[in-house]
Amino acid sequence: MAEKRRCDLHMHTVHSDGTFTPTQLIELAKQQGLSCVALTDHDTLSGVEEAQVTGNRIGVEVIAGIEFSAICDPGTMHILGYFIDPKSKKLQQKLEKIQEARRQRNPMIIEKLRASKVDITLEEVERESGGDQIGRPHFARALVRKGYVKNFEEAFDKYLAKGTLAYVDKRKFTSRDSIQMITEAGGIASLAHPVTLKLDGKAFEQKLDQLKSEGLKGLEVYSSCQNKEEAAKYKKTADRLNLFVTGGSDFHGANKPDISLGWMGDGVSIPYETIDGMKKLLLDCKTK
Ligand code: AMP
Ligand code: ZN
Ligand code: FE
Ligand code: FE
Repeated sequence: MAEKRRCDLHMHTVHSDGTFTPTQLIELAKQQGLSCVALTDHDTLSGVEEAQVTGNRIGVEVIAGIEFSAICDPGTMHILGYFIDPKSKKLQQKLEKIQEARRQRNPMIIEKLRASKVDITLEEVERESGGDQIGRPHFARALVRKGYVKNFEEAFDKYLAKGTLAYVDKRKFTSRDSIQMITEAGGIASLAHPVTLKLDGKAFEQKLDQLKSEGLKGLEVYSSCQNKEEAAKYKKTADRLNLFVTGGSDFHGANKPDISLGWMGDGVSIPYETIDGMKKLLLDCKTK
């Protein structure tokens, strides 16, 4: 019998807040026996090309993906996009705006840190990033390196998390706009780690109805941050709304050392049929 082809549809590189380069990540995927992965860096596609070149060389299929943060209350909402056209002009312009907002936010975080008696410069934070995007994890690493905190978690708890000393909000889009950006760039939108919405029961189901009406096509039923019971609940919602069941490890390398590439629950993996289904949907849309 042919071996089941395993997929992992959620992971980050140095182009956002991971610590592996795209090449290192795809090499690791190969070692782990994954046949198809989606690269889903936050707000950028800049790692995709290198990952695809490596993937073609060593035999791992790489889906061009992205992860957006959307406005949400009380929790956080992340929306994944798969099969994005990296050449989409409309999307490139939007991404440039998001990156510009980040560049404006970083000096504000520095200012707040300095006001909290932390002697730190933007250059020191930039040195922690291997790509072009600076975010709070890079601030966290710099704070650890300089000895202001013992570890990553303490950096967030004391300085970087919402409501703490140096928190600065990030520009976010609505869920409708996020899904539209993905769809306009030829992609398919899936709701990442639904557990972080912090919604239960009716409120959760209503939110999912809304997202579906806004064009959502998938639900990340399996994630390293969701347990078996949660996954079972999300599977029911996905079935009810006829959404693709997606899943991923949300691998970030050394920034989240407890998460292994390919792991989204014991014995769980996304079968290649899901990828086939998404490709078929996209083809049907194009020929309509
Ligand atoms: P940013 O996009 O700059 O706001 O940074 C968001 C990233 O910071 C997330 O993707 C996580 O990797 C990380 N992060 C956010 N909150 C925490 C936390 N409380 N502890 C550890 N990492 C966090
Ligand atoms: Zn991340
Ligand atoms: Fe996320
Ligand atoms: Fe993620």
